[in-house]
Amino acid sequence: MMNNIRQNLENIREDIRKYSPHPGRVRLIAVSKKQPVERICAGVEAGVSDLGENRIQDALKKFARHPFPGITRHFIGYLQSNKANKCLQNFDWLHSLQTEKLARIIARKEQGIRCLIEVNISGESNKSGIAPDALYPFVKRIRDYGNLQVRGLMGMAALTDDGGRIRSSFALLRSLLDDCRDLETENIRFEELSMGMSNDYRTALEEGSTMLRIGTAVFGPRTEKE
Ligand SMILES: *Cc1c(COP(=O)(O)O)cnc(C)c1O
Repeated sequence: MMNNIRQNLENIREDIRKYSPHPGRVRLIAVSKKQPVERICAGVEAGVSDLGENRIQDALKKFARHPFPGITRHFIGYLQSNKANKCLQNFDWLHSLQTEKLARIIARKEQGIRCLIEVNISGESNKSGIAPDALYPFVKRIRDYGNLQVRGLMGMAALTDDGGRIRSSFALLRSLLDDCRDLETENIRFEELSMGMSNDYRTALEEGSTMLRIGTAVFGPRTEKE
């Protein structure tokens, strides 16, 4: 199992070189949610530099015992505004900014966090994220929020076997990133595309991903209970 993690990481790095138009800009985030801590440690030993978690409570329990010094921490789940403080104190990146309320809260805090705006690119109305049409006006509104640091967009393709549909979701996110560039300020920048998970990361790489969020293809199946 432990050796597999090293091999899994090697395979993904090879895919990055093979599929990405700009391999040097791609960051691999190993999504450690619901993984036993021994596996996460094995991942870090094997060279993982970035960890992703989707629940504040679970993540803080893990980090209390294993702070993983030097590792960049990404919060990739839905963030309730009452947990914003805990997120700011414990994470370097937030991938799921999607409400003005949260943007306002973050902008008021001394402690900053680099944010990505989550966009619903799946075409499914029940999924989280801002509707593609609503993104540009949203960015316009949050531009005036003092210290808010935005660095790009995040999206998830639908869970489907339809490769064409997955590809067009990722292409949509990339074109939205381009559209937003004329709204850039010193604090609001559109550089990063967080897209691609275990089952669709090669397509995401071809479409310009700069941040892969990969769980099971790094660590194996999730084993901890919900
Ligand atoms: C769990 C999760 C991932 C990783 O999923 P895998 O299929 O295990 O690679 C990526 N992004 C988000 C937002 C997640 O919640």
